[in-house]
Amino acid sequence: MDIAAILDDIGETMARATDRGRVATYIPQLARIDANRFGMAVALPDGQIFTTGDAKIPFSIQSISKVFTLALALGRMGDQFWTRVGREPSGQAFNSILQLEHEGGIPRNPFINAGAIATTDAALAGHAPREFLGELLRFIRTAAGDDSIHINEKVARSEEETGDLNRALAYFMAAHGNMLNPVDLTMGAYFHQCAVEMSCIQLARAALFLTGADGTPRLVSPGRRRINAMMMLCGHYDASGDFAYRVGLPGKSGVGGGIMVVAPGRAGVCVWSPCLNAQGNSKLGTEAVEMFGRATGWSVFD
Ligand code: GLN
Repeated sequence: MDIAAILDDIGETMARATDRGRVATYIPQLARIDANRFGMAVALPDGQIFTTGDAKIPFSIQSISKVFTLALALGRMGDQFWTRVGREPSGQAFNSILQLEHEGGIPRNPFINAGAIATTDAALAGHAPREFLGELLRFIRTAAGDDSIHINEKVARSEEETGDLNRALAYFMAAHGNMLNPVDLTMGAYFHQCAVEMSCIQLARAALFLTGADGTPRLVSPGRRRINAMMMLCGHYDASGDFAYRVGLPGKSGVGGGIMVVAPGRAGVCVWSPCLNAQGNSKLGTEAVEMFGRATGWSVFD
């Protein structure tokens, strides 16, 4: 299979796109990004990397970080983790508070904001936010094989300043006894994890541990399939069904415009285009991985 040619084709198609979507503006630092950026990378278990466009430029990984935090929380708590967070698709916007009231402060899944905040709270338990963030960075750097990955403090501060809705989700869960740490501590950790910066190449390599392919890092052996299941069912919020239908691979999006995709047994993939669709997922990014899935036949349903 000629992955380089497939990526060239995708890059050319996306460069011609006229309807790109809109960049996220609710986090002021994200609104400053160049809307025309587009990059994609594919990492194979044998170390080969294929790219197109802006694949080396670091961007804000935002909710993609929720995958790594889930891995840490599962590692720490095992199946006990699922007493705090559900594992069903929500069918609601990523920052919705609606179901939390109906469901007694237990978020539907670890990838909507409420669930991710509870996951960070679980991963944090007993540690200072600084230690948790150090552990998270170590995990991500090991997964990507790259020690240069860091957190953008400006983005973290920008989120902190505009994060009242996220804090509301946390306080709501605290009122239901579903927060172990003081809300401020958990939210500080959450805002910082969202502000990790990575390039498509780094994220494609970081996704390799979820492929289970020979030669990839064994970071979460029993949890790997479960994390992939959650990505397939919940990784794109209320567009998760659409993503599964169009792409057929586990993926996780972020409002920075990135999507990390796992092709089980085959490759880690990442695409970045900062403009989003109505559900807060990268518009061209989704189209690009849809093209990629069609060209490779790598859908898990094939
Ligand atoms: N930091 C963002 C938020 O909490 C993450 C959301 C996302 O990427 N979908 O609102």
